[in-house]
Amino acid sequence: MIDPIALAQKLIRCPSVTPVDGGALDVLEAALQSLGFSCHRLRFEESGTAGVENLYARLGTASPHFCFAGHSDVVPPGEGWAQNPFSATILDDVLYGRGAADMKSALAAFIAAAERVLANGPPKGSISLLITGDEEGPAINGTAKLLAWLEARGERIDHCVVGEPTSVAHAGDTLKIGRRGSINFQVTVMGVQGHVGYPQKAVNPIPALASLVTQLGAQPLDKGNAHFDPSTLAFTSMDVGNLATNVIPGEARAAFNIRFNDKHTPESLLGWAMDRADRIAKETGTTITFSHSVSGTSFLTQPGKFTQLVSDTVARVTGQAPVFSTSGGISDARFIKDHCPVVELGLVGATMHKTDECVALSEIRSLTDIYAQLLTDYFAKPLV
Ligand SMILES: [Zn+2]
Repeated sequence: MIDPIALAQKLIRCPSVTPVDGGALDVLEAALQSLGFSCHRLRFEESGTAGVENLYARLGTASPHFCFAGHSDVVPPGEGWAQNPFSATILDDVLYGRGAADMKSALAAFIAAAERVLANGPPKGSISLLITGDEEGPAINGTAKLLAWLEARGERIDHCVVGEPTSVAHAGDTLKIGRRGSINFQVTVMGVQGHVGYPQKAVNPIPALASLVTQLGAQPLDKGNAHFDPSTLAFTSMDVGNLATNVIPGEARAAFNIRFNDKHTPESLLGWAMDRADRIAKETGTTITFSHSVSGTSFLTQPGKFTQLVSDTVARVTGQAPVFSTSGGISDARFIKDHCPVVELGLVGATMHKTDECVALSEIRSLTDIYAQLLTDYFAKPLV
């Protein structure tokens, strides 16, 4: 039998800091092949980016098709660990290492769960794993391209669980059914440079920028709704870079980030910000321009049959139904949501990306029980 803890240790010992694979996908592939999965290794390399290895493994060809999605890469360990971050040390029934929580132990738990379920015979449908090595990096050569590859092959996923560490105190206490979107804006205000002694001959961009900063932050973007917290806007930088005390600068810049719920789109937010900027530009005689980059749009998997099935399963295993949440940052679920209903269910995320990242062994066992029960329940009462 596959021991999820031993498998998690094996994975942590592969130093797979994005975009390096470090042997992690070999470990996963070997375990999945031993269970009869057909494995595909896919290396994507967009020009100008570091190429990244990914893995797609599927058992069965029939519908319904349940997919477990996740990533084998980790963020750099940083300094100050009590243990070697890649030695996968167990101390007092706690597993330490980079990726212990985010999310190598969840990968191991799912594979061990799959083995347990397959011991009772092949599934009445298909099980697949979609594992990328590019989640913690730019996420360009990973999940999005894997999904496009699947679509081109005519493979369709019916439901997906992402194994991100979304839980708060115990595995399964929280089910992410959506995420807020994230967009970064850079704003530049152009005036006319001049001598401080003759301000009438200059156009100072600083008061215009100050006014914009105040106005954009003055009112809440929305009040939130049943599934989402209110959207938030935070300025991250404001700079002029002018060291001269006798010069009115010609240019001032600022940057801000908006975390937005499903009441907004990147386009609607850009329109809203530009509308205010245009008014201020007209009043002040400046020119205000924006550039922006979208890290992810918001999404929501409407509570329904699938979320109910996952919730009921968790309740049966842990004794407590999960809380539905849309909080936190972004994850690769933002790509999967365009293909099928997706929820995120995994370990406790308290130590992810931190020094001394760790997970209790009992939590890995508990998550394995949850995933095994979920596979059993999913194929027992097909939703499609
Ligand atoms: Zn993660």
